[in-house]
Amino acid sequence: MRTLFLNPPSYSGFDGGAGARYQARREIRSFWYPTWLAQPAALIANSKLIDAPADDLSLPEVLQRAKGFELCVMHTSTPSFSNDVKVAEALKAAYPDMVIGFVGAHVAVLPEESLCASPQIDFVAREEFDYTLLEVAERRPYADIAGLSFRDNGEFRHNPDRQLIGEMDKLPSVVDVYKRDLIPENYYIGYLKHPYLSLYTGRGCPARCTFCLWPQTVGGHVYRTRSASSVVEELVRAKGMFPQIKEFFFDDDTFTADLNRAAEIARGLGAAGITWSCNSRANVPYEYLKIFKDNGLRLLLVGYESGNQQILNNIKKGIRLDIAREFTKNCRKLGIVIHGTFILGLPGETQETIEESIKFACELDVETIQVSLAAAYPGTELYRQVMANKWYDEDALVRNDGTQASAIQYEHLTADDIESGVKRFYSKFYARPTPIWRMLVNMAKDPEERRRRLREGKEFLNYLRGRTEAPRSRVETPATAPEQVAA
Ligand code: SF4
Repeated sequence: MRTLFLNPPSYSGFDGGAGARYQARREIRSFWYPTWLAQPAALIANSKLIDAPADDLSLPEVLQRAKGFELCVMHTSTPSFSNDVKVAEALKAAYPDMVIGFVGAHVAVLPEESLCASPQIDFVAREEFDYTLLEVAERRPYADIAGLSFRDNGEFRHNPDRQLIGEMDKLPSVVDVYKRDLIPENYYIGYLKHPYLSLYTGRGCPARCTFCLWPQTVGGHVYRTRSASSVVEELVRAKGMFPQIKEFFFDDDTFTADLNRAAEIARGLGAAGITWSCNSRANVPYEYLKIFKDNGLRLLLVGYESGNQQILNNIKKGIRLDIAREFTKNCRKLGIVIHGTFILGLPGETQETIEESIKFACELDVETIQVSLAAAYPGTELYRQVMANKWYDEDALVRNDGTQASAIQYEHLTADDIESGVKRFYSKFYARPTPIWRMLVNMAKDPEERRRRLREGKEFLNYLRGRTEAPRSRVETPATAPEQVAA
């Protein structure tokens, strides 16, 4: 079947597609590459990938471009689900013969509820959906396709689960799909050089953080990787294909989960003169950091989450604050830039722990930070805890402008307390002399950096202002009873 992979149009600037971990409109215009859609697109001949939010495409434009496709695979998320259903209905109204399937963590956990949401959704591809979609596109009978949930004579059928992919080297490269269908200049991440390019070299994360979406829903807890040589080959090829790219980012949940493999890849990239960055835990030993830095590593994206040890224990982060401090010191010594991410509103949060996290971030003094609101996505342990303890505020993960809203509250801490903590966190961190000085120096050195930071500064101030102005929207999601999710 002629197949279209669609990251649907949504809230303006919504980074909710296949690649984002927190599905929301960011503080500044940001988009991750739709890697989860690009992978099956690389498997299916003559397919096409449309990333509507990144390319600023409206629904009528998408409808026009969807003409001639027999199968449309849409990536959805919990906050955007009801909107994505409307897009599916519009596609079906325009092209009644088009088969429409949904993928993503939300539908993987809630296949039946998702199918119930609209008769226009023909199937849901659960778990890792790459080969499931290939088999649908090959027109195999639905009953024979593992990992598929679908309608059958008014009933819902859920085929047996599909095994996670073991041989990652067998998956074709996504860079050819990027080249064919995406515009790298449309992808911004504030702390990465522009334009950047991101891809996965493996899936799954051995850690068990209770809030983390992908390993608990789609990727699993075994880090399944491509061979170091194939990763290096791919990056060398990508460098030739995209001469404008200034930085390559490994979006693996935790690229440093296998340190020896990461070091082998680093050496290959170093020899090829490639600048790269990746996700990392705050526990990489100095000797490995040195190998990475000596071989082109520029930045690590590190999830510190909290400055309170009890909260880290509550969320099963598996990291000690003293180790995180030591790691950060080592990165500074080596000249590795860190973008640190924090979460407010996790179990155990109080006004005092919010202040502890702010103090901790200022003490670490990493280059840039991101402060997210704890989001209980269906399928995660955090979601089950929130439902069991009635910690939910309202079913609203985003405001009606697409920015994150706190859907969690505690007896001693309201959703508003948590949200105002985010604003305070950013203000206290960035209003110190060191970050301001760092930014001014970088802006003075590079005119392009200057233009970008000025634009982002304006967007950031608008975002802070919007947090107090934009009302919350009640996001309509399918019924998500905790016992169904647990099952
Ligand atoms: S280490 Fe990072 S990717 Fe792995 S489970 Fe924890 S938060 Fe998720």
